[in-house]
Amino acid sequence: MADCLFCSIAAGEIPADVVIETDEVVAFNDINPAAPTHVLVIPKRHVASAAELEPDDAGLLGALFAVAAEVGRTIDGGWRLVTNVGPDAGQSVFHLHFHVLGGRPLGWPPG
Ligand code: AMP
Ligand code: ZN
Repeated sequence: MADCLFCSIAAGEIPADVVIETDEVVAFNDINPAAPTHVLVIPKRHVASAAELEPDDAGLLGALFAVAAEVGRTIDGGWRLVTNVGPDAGQSVFHLHFHVLGGRPLGWPPG
């Protein structure tokens, strides 16, 4: 999708610190990390948020979670998988992404 930051990263048009790439998924380090490990896992295909997901996206979701788990297995201790939906929840980039956060104690509930 034109003018989408994460579509541009997925297409390699904007550089990112990529840690895993598959046919459908890219994982890269967050530019403003909120924890010692903070990786974003995105579909290459544009999906605006989790609110847009449909049953037909089951395969894509499996691929996204498998990459998130691969990142999570590199973290000592616990980790968190988060997706924000809408501005009130903190979504600032409107291309689906899962945050993988870990490497420090994580408070609950989130703010
Ligand atoms: P959210 O606020 O849930 O939409 O998350 C968007 C995330 O994207 C934030 O944690 C930002 O720090 C991160 N971010 C924004 N621009 C970039 C970029 N060019 N490369 C890597 N991460 C980015
Ligand atoms: Zn996009």
